[in-house]
Formats: sequence, C-alpha cells, structure tokens
Amino acid sequence: MRQQIVAGNWKMNTTLTDGAALAEAITAQLPEKPRGTVVMAAPYTHLHAVGQVIEENPNIMLGAQNCHQAEKGAFTGEISADMLLAVGVQWVILGHSERRQYFGETDALLTEKVNTVLANGLRPIFCCGEPLDIREADTHTDYVAAQLRNSLFHLPEAEFRQVVIAYEPIWAIGTGRTASAEQAQDMHAAIRALIAQQYGDGVAQDTSILYGGSCNAQNAPELFAQPDVDGGLIGGASLKVADFVAIVGALKS
Ligand code: PEP
Repeated sequence: MRQQIVAGNWKMNTTLTDGAALAEAITAQLPEKPRGTVVMAAPYTHLHAVGQVIEENPNIMLGAQNCHQAEKGAFTGEISADMLLAVGVQWVILGHSERRQYFGETDALLTEKVNTVLANGLRPIFCCGEPLDIREADTHTDYVAAQLRNSLFHLPEAEFRQVVIAYEPIWAIGTGRTASAEQAQDMHAAIRALIAQQYGDGVAQDTSILYGGSCNAQNAPELFAQPDVDGGLIGGASLKVADFVAIVGALKS
C-alpha cells in the first residue's frame, strides 16, 4: 500500500524565528490524524528547531532540501547525510529542478546523492520533470523516463522501495501555471508503468508519486483525486499555513 504524502519545500525562505513559527502554526492546525504523511523540508539552519517543534507528532516528518554526495571531508559549505540524520531528518529532496538548473546537478551526480542518502537510512524525494520546450515537443514522457533510468534504476528493489518520486514539470514550478489533472495523471501513470517494467507491478503499485508545480488549496483536490497522484511536493503554498493545511486535507483517504 503506497503512502499519501504532502511535502512542503520551504526553499530559501523564512528566518529561523519565522520558520519555527510556521512549523508551530502548521502543527497546531493539522488534524490529529491527517490522511497521510506530512514532511517539512526546511532550510538547513532551521532543521534542529523545526525538528523540536514536530517531535511529538508522529505524522509530521523532517526533510532537507539537499545533501552532499560524500560521507564527509573537505567540502566547504556542504552538509552530509549523517549530519542530517543527527538532527532528525528522515527525508531529503534530491534532483529539484532548481538544483539541476542553478547548481549544475546532473543525472550522474544525482545517482551518487541517491546512493549516499539511502546508505545513511534517509528517504529521497526524487524530483523529475521536463522544461516547457520538451513538453511542447511532446517528448516529456521520454525525458522524464531518462531522468529516472539514469539516477534511480540502478537501485536494487529494496532500496528503490525507499524512494518517493515527485513529478514536477518545470514550466509549472512557481509560475502559477499548474499541470491539468489530466496531464499530471498521464505522466504519473507513465512513471508507474516504467517502474513496473523495471521492478514489477508490486513495486510500482507501492511507489508514491507526488505532483509538484503551483499546487495550491484550490487545485489540490482535483490533482490528488487522480488515481496515480499520491500527494504533492509544495513550494510557495507550503509557506502559507491555511493553504498548506488545506492541501494536506485534500489527500485521498
Ligand atoms: C517546488 O519548487 O517544488 C514547487 C512545487 O514549487 P511551487 O509549488 O511554488 O510551484
């Protein structure tokens, strides 16, 4: 049975004080038993404080937005998987399009990051998704398939089962332009079919595939109602308490 998940990607937003207050407000307003798992992927500097806010709540988990591929060493400014683990992080977003675009993260580098994160007992939320020109050329399914093949399909089944996939069409991220429920469902179904080819139908049915890209309180119910959409990775709306709580409320029961 696959997990329904809403993960908030705070990106480089909020000060420590504001971030802790955001975590407190969301925690206070979520129902005692949300329909799925909630992840708060806060900036590195906030992880310890946010972890303390949510520690009593078994339904809310701590996430990071990145992780270095090496175990440790002379990598000034970087953060390792065991540092994340030590502050209570359980989930790590990898391969976000902003990291691919602004920090030059390639499929090969992401393979290393995925391996390191899994080796340390953390769960990757692996992002994939096509730019607008690829969508317009109608080659988006192949594009996303290559991202998954290149960075994930080397994993043995037991490790692949720890991965959550987030389909995030780049043209929909932070633009206010959401994929239609039909576009999201089509791509999620294609991703699930690809996983079935690689790992078998059982693994494919158990894999959570989240949608990300201008998901908000208004469109989440229709997106999440799609049979292959298992929740969302939420950027802008994760910073607005009422919106984020409403998005969690849109998960399938
Ligand atoms: C994201 O960056 O992961 C994202 C989905 O952003 P937004 O919701 O703001 O489009």
